[in-house]
Amino acid sequence: MTKEVENMMDKIVSLAKRRGFVFPGSEIYGGLANTWDYGPVGVELKNNIKQAWWNFFVKNREDIVGIDAAILMNSKVWESSGHVAGFNDALIDCRACQARIRADHLIEDALEMKAEGLTPKDMTKIIVENKIKCPVCGKIDFTEARKFGLMFKTFQGVTEEDKNIIYLRPETAQAMFVNFKNVLNSTNKKIPFGIAQIGKSFRNEITPGNFIFRTVEFEQMELEYFIDEKDWEKLFEYWQNEMANWLDHIGIKKENYSIREHDKDELSHYSKKTIDFEYNFPFGTKELYGLAYRTDFDLMNHQNASGQNMEYFDVENNRKYIPHVLEPTFGVDRTFLAAMVDAYTEEEAPTGDGKTETRVVMKFAKNIAPIKVAILPLSKKEELSGKAKEVFDLVKTEFNSQYDESQSIGKRYRRQDEIGTPYCVTVDFESLEDGAVTVRDRDTMKQERVKIEELVKWLKKAF
Ligand code: ATP
Repeated sequence: MTKEVENMMDKIVSLAKRRGFVFPGSEIYGGLANTWDYGPVGVELKNNIKQAWWNFFVKNREDIVGIDAAILMNSKVWESSGHVAGFNDALIDCRACQARIRADHLIEDALEMKAEGLTPKDMTKIIVENKIKCPVCGKIDFTEARKFGLMFKTFQGVTEEDKNIIYLRPETAQAMFVNFKNVLNSTNKKIPFGIAQIGKSFRNEITPGNFIFRTVEFEQMELEYFIDEKDWEKLFEYWQNEMANWLDHIGIKKENYSIREHDKDELSHYSKKTIDFEYNFPFGTKELYGLAYRTDFDLMNHQNASGQNMEYFDVENNRKYIPHVLEPTFGVDRTFLAAMVDAYTEEEAPTGDGKTETRVVMKFAKNIAPIKVAILPLSKKEELSGKAKEVFDLVKTEFNSQYDESQSIGKRYRRQDEIGTPYCVTVDFESLEDGAVTVRDRDTMKQERVKIEELVKWLKKAF
């Protein structure tokens, strides 16, 4: 990592903690690796991302319905899906410092090549041949790469016997396959149609996670789109466009991400085509989202293993078939991080006395900004705070708002800029005379006088 890059991540992590976006998990006990807690501002941003996604992909469409399934599922689900047998990563240990590292990441970071799809043996060979150093201690003394299970195990019932093992789901997708027939029968949807879900997933990731990029507990927004096989190419392209439209919708700049198609040897065993949306994070260009053509692999497997019929009956053509599936998948936490990186701006701003200072401002798209409006009385004097609270009561039912009368107005503006609040409304002594307030725009810093009775209308137009 270059100094500048390290600096950028440090700045984001420290802003996240200082302003209540994200705190280290279990911090007072020294933390727990790769866990993070979302704070008062962070939970708003995260909820806005999830709500925007749901509106975009479910509520505003006719062909997609949602579900909210249990995190714990019958273990047979994970046997049929191939997760019990195959969901594991090759890890390698440094004998010198005992660091345990994901072998594919070690290769990708050291050689700037993609390592997906390589066997542990291949990876060991590459690491040895290229004399790759341990990123922690710098020595070259690795064990062989070995596979480790990524699924979190737990036990149902009171005894810890093998037969009681259940897993915390490592992806939300399987619940959509398992419920395919339930959804079909209860909604009468016609193919093509999709099932969407937002929910927690768990993976026993042991490598350092780059803040919230890779965590052991994370949220996914996934979509299984059931199609007729003959349409897969055209619909793949359609979903690729929809995913780009979504990124545009939440303000992620086009120049900050790219699309990469998986090579043949990198594809999952079930997939005929997969692309990744990769974002230019400060620590490298990494997967943000994926779009995979999963064929009929999942429904076929569940049909075979459960004995339940997973066919769709195409009435018009009097034909029965197992639908094929396109899967656009989105990480909530990675969206959150991309939104933070994309929004983070440092700019020179006038201080008012002829000088300038560096202003840090999170230029979130307005639809995901955690707080939409801040109401700031110019002083703590009672008559001002009384009036300001009246304004707050007026605005808070329409927009997620904050009332703040602490510290100087300059400090309060700085705080609102750092949490990305699009509009600050200042109530001053003149407001008591003319019934108007000053609205400050986060990005231009332009100020406009608006009548209190017009304020909600003004803000609605501005959003
Ligand atoms: P990676 O190669 O980075 O481990 P993956 O290809 O295993 O990711 P998928 O199984 O395709 O990821 O999961 C779908 C999405 O879920 C990813 O695109 C990402 O946004 C998110 N995701 C996956 N693993 C994690 C994690 N450990 N922490 C946070 N988000 C994750």
